[in-house]
Amino acid sequence: MSAVIKDPAQQDHKTLVSLRNLNKHYGDFAAVDNISLDIQNGEFLTFLGSSGSGKSTTLSMLAGFETPSSGEILVNGQSLVNVPSHKRDIGMVFQRYSLFPHLSVRDNIAFPLAIRKLPKAERERQVDAMLKLVQLNEFAHRRPSQLSGGQQQRVAIARALVYEPRILLMDEPLGALDKKLREDLQDELRQLHRRLGITIVYVTHDQEEAMRLSQRIAIFSHGKIVGLGTGFDLYQNPPNAFVASFLGNSNFLKLKAKGNAVGLFEAQPLSIRLTSGLQVDQDLLLMVRPEKAQALSIDQAIRDPAAAGWNEVPATVVEVLFLGESQTCSVVTQGGTAMTVKALSAAGMPLKTGDPVRVRWAAADACVYTQWTESDLNKAAGAH
Ligand code: ADP
Ligand code: MG
Repeated sequence: MSAVIKDPAQQDHKTLVSLRNLNKHYGDFAAVDNISLDIQNGEFLTFLGSSGSGKSTTLSMLAGFETPSSGEILVNGQSLVNVPSHKRDIGMVFQRYSLFPHLSVRDNIAFPLAIRKLPKAERERQVDAMLKLVQLNEFAHRRPSQLSGGQQQRVAIARALVYEPRILLMDEPLGALDKKLREDLQDELRQLHRRLGITIVYVTHDQEEAMRLSQRIAIFSHGKIVGLGTGFDLYQNPPNAFVASFLGNSNFLKLKAKGNAVGLFEAQPLSIRLTSGLQVDQDLLLMVRPEKAQALSIDQAIRDPAAAGWNEVPATVVEVLFLGESQTCSVVTQGGTAMTVKALSAAGMPLKTGDPVRVRWAAADACVYTQWTESDLNKAAGAH
């Protein structure tokens, strides 16, 4: 590969790919439902969502394997919809390695160059560069069947990159590998992206993988993008209850609004983040991450009263779990709302089942939602 080293600081962060009102219908079923998205030049963007949410269909339209029912795909402002897939300057890696079993590693990687009729010397040079990039020099003469799953996937990545596409699409490329290998390859992919400066659009249903790899994450549900941003922002400030419940763990409390900064929870007034335009007695949903909440024994709570801006509700311990680095405590409030509190084990949670406790959190740490459905609150509901 020529001039593979690019300085990420010099990348122009302008839009490279635009999806505009993209739809894919199968009969009257919308697999992709009016998606609009701008992908920046050089970014690592991940489509994250449960099975059947439309990630692969969207990626396939970008690759040119599927034709949109309606909508536009633009690259640098030019429509791609009528450009055949092999002319799109897009590389693709799938979950199944789809290597040619009868060809050596070297010939597998050289294949896209051979069909593009590159001169032999040039081909050799580029294949050598790719073998080095994915650290498979020593395996150049092996057949795919003589490689581990992780090595085969590195061959597939090298083969997708060898003709220097501007965009690399990856559909659950590490899905078939075990956890340790997956994490190693995630690190390699992140470094590869940094070194090459190409644009990567990645599909996974694994939120930890999405967090590890991506600069931005698009969360898919029922053919729509329901959240878009950095992993940090989506986790800290989920745009809606579905994203809150899908990403990480969350406590949901049902309140009635009593003002723009006050809610009533199980007949107890609570401070909430200032949310303008609330109507008195309007239903609200409060979301608190388990690690943002605390459970204190009654003695502790009396010794150390809650600070201003914090809420405190009485509850009873259901279960305490030791998880190594962290500890969780499940409680139930007097009105029957289940909550979970998480703390670092080192901090200690000297509580046991049946103990009366006070659960606390800072109003600023809880998100307020005015619209949601019951299925949003159920992590499994998104899956088919
Ligand atoms: P994901 O990659 O997020 O798991 P897909 O994009 O593969 O989801 O599929 C989205 C939805 O579209 C699923 O419900 C799937 O069953 C449906 N679908 C995909 N391809 C076809 C097809 N060729 N015919 C009918 N339905 C399809
Ligand atoms: Mg898929």
